[in-house]
Parts: sequence; C-alpha cells; structure tokens
Amino acid sequence: MKRRTVLKGAGAVAAIAVSGGLTTGLSEAETVRRARGLAHGLTVLNIRRNGTYALGVKTDKGILMVPDAAKTLHMYAPTDIDDLLQNQDGPSLNALVDAALKSGPASSAFVKEEGIAYGPVVTRPEKIVCIGLNYRRHAQETGQPVPKKPILFNKYNTALNHHNGTVKLPVDLATKFDYEVELVMVMGKEARNVSEADALSCVAGYCTGNDFTARDLQYETGGQWMIGKTPDQFAPLGPYLVTADQIDPDSLKLETRVNGETRQSSNTSDMVFNSKQLISYVSHYVTLKPGDIIFTGTPEGVIQGKPKDKQVWLKPGDKIACSLEKLGELKFELV
Ligand code: ZN
Repeated sequence: MKRRTVLKGAGAVAAIAVSGGLTTGLSEAETVRRARGLAHGLTVLNIRRNGTYALGVKTDKGILMVPDAAKTLHMYAPTDIDDLLQNQDGPSLNALVDAALKSGPASSAFVKEEGIAYGPVVTRPEKIVCIGLNYRRHAQETGQPVPKKPILFNKYNTALNHHNGTVKLPVDLATKFDYEVELVMVMGKEARNVSEADALSCVAGYCTGNDFTARDLQYETGGQWMIGKTPDQFAPLGPYLVTADQIDPDSLKLETRVNGETRQSSNTSDMVFNSKQLISYVSHYVTLKPGDIIFTGTPEGVIQGKPKDKQVWLKPGDKIACSLEKLGELKFELV
C-alpha cells in the first residue's frame, strides 16, 4: 500500500510539472496535502494561448489569467479547467482568485475579455455522455414516444470545439446537418451508484453546449446514433463553466438562433429525466469521473422536427448561436 501511495504522489507531481502548473516548487508532500474539492462562486474558461490552454476566471476586473497571477503571487493554481476538475483543485483556485482581486502586483494578470481566444470548456474528459430525446416536446416533434429510460450515446474528445469556433461540415459524408442546444453538466467528483439526492453534489458546474448532428448519419447507418453525433468538431462547448453552487439546472431558459433567427426556445423544466435523475441513472452503469461531461438532450425546434418539405438543412456559412440562461452564449460558424 505504501508503495502505491508513493507512486500516486510522484505521478501527480509529474503530471503537474509537465503541464506547467508547478510554479512554486512545492514538494511532493505539500502537493499531496493540498485541500481538494469543488470551486465555488466562479465563472471559469479555457483560453488558447501560446499553443496551449490557460485557465481564466471572469471577474468584475476582467478575465483573470490564472497562470500569470499564480506566478506573481507565488501561489499554486491549476493550469486549465481539466486540471482544476481532475485534480479537484477548487480550493486552490478560490484562494488564488481571492488573493489576486486584493493584490496590487497581480492587477497585470487581468485582461480584457474582447482580446482572448476561447478554448473548449474541457479538452480531455475521460467520457462524453449524451442523452437522447430528453425533452417531452422534442420527442413529440420527432414522432417518437417519450422514453421510459434515458437513451444514452456518446461523443469522443476529437469532437470538442469552442466558442467563436468553426465546424467544418463533412459534406462528402452527409447532407442533413442540424443544431441541438443543450445544457452540459460537468462532473467534479466521482459518481458511482449515487442516489438522486446526492447526484448534484458531484457536479462541478454547467455550460452551454451544442450536440451538433448529421441526421442522415444518425438515422441511416444501421440503427446506431453515434456516427451522426461525433464527427470532429461536433461538440461546441462554452464560453464558460459556471460553478454549480450558482445554478439550478432544472429551470434554465435555452435557445438557438441561426443567422439571427430564433429556432429553439424552451426551458430545462421540460426535460423527461432531470439532471439529478440522469447522473444517478448513468452512475449505476458507468463510474463518472471528475472532468467527465454529460450533454443532457435538446428541446423542440430542431430541423429534424419540421415537416419533410420544410426541412432546410444547415450549410456552410450559417452562423449558430446557442444560449443557456446564466451560462452564456456559444457562437460558432459552419464552413
Ligand atoms: Zn442531443
């Protein structure tokens, strides 16, 4: 047992050193001793910078560049959102943000949001779980029965995409491209066989997502959905992760606009299985880990739900904007 503990600690330090987060020369013992848990009261984002991702926090003083503040203040902080989640480094991040907001020297670590390049909210989750037909009016519009159990499928990490990004449509493989605005839950604690009552305590936060879809690949490839859901770039996510303590996931307005025209406008209260039911259900089959994400289904208003003669599929040049109340607007363009 002792040997395992030592290896685990060394591995943790090595991982942090490789990712550039070990800014203060913490010993292995100090690193292992850090308090673990969820961040609270924060709106965080991944920023693309110098060929990698840097953790940012949205504040009244602008976007706090966390690695820069950590260096100035000689404090430890996670490098990006995946580090924050997978190492459960919420207390370290909260301590750094509190210190930076009060510090004169750290004021140079705040930048204007207008100039930043957004990254996907997460870049290396172990799992991306998706739920199908999870809004009553969406099930009705597609002519399918309201599910008695959650319908599960998945995407892969190569689908992850970001705010202000592009989706390159695989026009040689498919033609029926469609949007799906969705509430995305981001796990902050391991969840295995959790009860509905305990489920939301495992969530680190929430973000706006789009379960972008090629309907012909979803429905015309032999009875599975995945291939229509996980082509590269088909999972835009962002701009922010808003910590769970600030959000009631069961009562959020959500919308999609295409070239400025509203197409979806609903509320998460129409979900068939709500957030805590989904986490509890999935956790009985699959252990959910910190950093995993769950796309919770889309409401009515998708192109697939229109009469066949009125289905005008998305095409290169279309601009998509999705928003969830309190979580921010996610924009991307099709090319
Ligand atoms: Zn979906």
